[in-house]
Amino acid sequence: MATLMLVGAAALVWRSPAATSAGGAPAPRSGAPGRVAAQAFALSGSGAPPAAAVLPGQGQAAFAPTAPAPPTTPGGGPQGSASMASRDHAAMVATTPAPPSTLTGYAWPIAHPRLTLPFGPSGWGTRIVDGQLFHDGVDLATFCNDRIMAAHDGVVLAAGRHFDGYIGWVGSLDAYYRYINTRHLWFDLPNVVIVDDGNGYRSIYAHMWKLTVRVGQHVRAGQLIGYEGMTGHATGCHLHYGLFSPSETATFGTEPKSIRSWHEPPAEIARIDPLLVLPYRKGIGGVATLLGTEDG
Ligand SMILES: [Zn+2]
Repeated sequence: MATLMLVGAAALVWRSPAATSAGGAPAPRSGAPGRVAAQAFALSGSGAPPAAAVLPGQGQAAFAPTAPAPPTTPGGGPQGSASMASRDHAAMVATTPAPPSTLTGYAWPIAHPRLTLPFGPSGWGTRIVDGQLFHDGVDLATFCNDRIMAAHDGVVLAAGRHFDGYIGWVGSLDAYYRYINTRHLWFDLPNVVIVDDGNGYRSIYAHMWKLTVRVGQHVRAGQLIGYEGMTGHATGCHLHYGLFSPSETATFGTEPKSIRSWHEPPAEIARIDPLLVLPYRKGIGGVATLLGTEDG
């Protein structure tokens, strides 16, 4: 089991596998790594039809009516319904996201990372694009508790486990929150920082241990925002870094298993490959030189 875990990558699985185990019975966290590997490789054979993915330029996604974002309470779940992604989208739908090639001011969120899982089709992904499992960000790894820096100037929208209202889910989060509240799964979620980069895009930083920023705080590129960890569910300490524009109309599908077990919405706003905006680095951008070096 350990071998299987290590040959892959320090991959992101947003949720604990507890609720995704067969029959819905929570699994002990000690069994997590093996389950992740098994889950990741079993998904393609789930037999369920994948959630639809709408690629850029292929059409307008359906969005739920606008609704106010729920206030959050420390240590508890959001109160009431949550359709922040929908509201964001309605507010920004008249705009078109800037092409990634025009985005400037980005810096690496970890000083000297390895790219352990690139953006794109992957058995470790939890999204569906063109019928394939897809990893919707980049996984960057060094060591536990390494410094995570803001990749761009911006304003913190979320810091902690109440982030789902800000990551571009398409559809209602009501059933998802109900499930988490009922099963007391808040601490199975990753620690996440969401930053409005001020250019129409948002940066997602996931799996951190301690966070050093709070909601509403202005951050500068290169500023410490937290420490590398493996909260939520991960096979090792790493940072999942994602980037998307709330005004993007393309969507990525949610893997059917997460819809069934966690009641996640059926889609999220499509992400872009962060390597399109991060400064070029020799040795990062190709997978061949990286996967063999992963040590979990
Ligand atoms: Zn990831």
